[in-house]
Amino acid sequence: MAETQGKIITCKAAVVWGPKEPLVIQEICVDPPQKMEVRLKILYSSICHTDLGCWNGTNEAERAFPRILGHEAVGIVESVGEGVKDVKEGDYVIPTFNGECGECKVCKREESNLCERYHVDPMKRVMVSDGATRFSTTTDKDGRSSQSQPIYHFLNTSTFTEYTVLDSACVVKIDPNAPLKQMSLLSCGVSTGVGAAWNIAKVKEGTSTAVFGLGSVGLAVAEGARARGASRIIGVDANASKFEKGKLMGVTDFINPKDLTKPVHQMIREITGGGVDYSFECTGNVDVLREAFLSSHAGWGSTVLVGIYPTPRTLPLHPMELFDGRTITGSVFGGFKPKSQLPNFAQQCMKGVVKLEPFITNELPFEKINDAFQLLRDGKSLRCILQISKLLKR
Ligand code: NAD
Ligand code: ZN
Ligand code: ZN
Repeated sequence: MAETQGKIITCKAAVVWGPKEPLVIQEICVDPPQKMEVRLKILYSSICHTDLGCWNGTNEAERAFPRILGHEAVGIVESVGEGVKDVKEGDYVIPTFNGECGECKVCKREESNLCERYHVDPMKRVMVSDGATRFSTTTDKDGRSSQSQPIYHFLNTSTFTEYTVLDSACVVKIDPNAPLKQMSLLSCGVSTGVGAAWNIAKVKEGTSTAVFGLGSVGLAVAEGARARGASRIIGVDANASKFEKGKLMGVTDFINPKDLTKPVHQMIREITGGGVDYSFECTGNVDVLREAFLSSHAGWGSTVLVGIYPTPRTLPLHPMELFDGRTITGSVFGGFKPKSQLPNFAQQCMKGVVKLEPFITNELPFEKINDAFQLLRDGKSLRCILQISKLLKR
């Protein structure tokens, strides 16, 4: 039994105190897990655009500070709360921002992965069981001792900390021999993209696809489409440096909207004889979403929305445009039910069906987390793996 079990742990975390403010690495207190909760030691965490979105604070309703961001990680179970049966101390796990209780109406049906109790919720900042946080400060942001203050949780996970507490519904056990850094990518980006291609669009062999936005999520869509035998994968990105990497994930054609004098959808319709079978929006930009929609073929084309849209603007379509027979749908966590489907997906990745290695472009120590944010903001990284704490033995 861990000697820390049932006790408060004091450890290091990267805390955000306000929109666009540098993250502060400081000491915090982490409470023991309560009923049906799990406390993890985070080993590696990477940064996803959704962390950046929250840090930017564009959507005022979602703001809550101080807060610990991060949702793409791999860790080891330190201790479990009452009633937790499916993981135990010492298990290797990945946190998932979209949980699965296994018992609600949605979890019992095949059609959706949005568990009634633990589905992703950007507004949520406290634990479900008692409405409290498990994190608190030991000092203020300038390092001066102060009265302890609660620190908010983020996306059911909060992984930019040496220790975190999650609902057990948001923890998935993985093979202890799995490559750990790569497994952290399954926590969000790669599962979200590959799942959008496999579970939502259900990409078939010999078909054509257009992917808008070639970050990790968009490139994971491409990698998923490649693994399913798509014959043409058109990558669209305003950052030309993403094109080289795209080739490794099966991207066959590149379009930089900045190089065109006509709308992207027009170009795509011209080079594909009417449009692609599937298009995916992975930038979080409503105008790009319209281009993605119009790039798909009339009659059967389907568009999958993956980006997160901080704007209050609504869907950029006239209802009559749907009479052309194109469909549009959204996808959270690639449609994967985390507990029941991720272990199998992880096995497929380990067998090389989906390549994970090319998504890791940078590695930095935890202390350099602000540099890692900057790399993503500048479009210079896909995923930067941060070493949050050291693994002593395995
Ligand atoms: P990223 O920042 O690494 O990549 C975004 C890419 O889009 C960049 O390469 C950028 O150059 C490109 N881009 C931005 N605006 C563009 C434009 N107007 N035209 C062309 N290209 C443009 O981000 P990521 O981590 O890959 O995440 C992508 C999106 O997916 C984000 O909106 C993120 O919040 C969202 N997301 C959704 C889910 C989900 O479950 N639905 C999960 C994870 C991430
Ligand atoms: Zn994410
Ligand atoms: Zn459920």
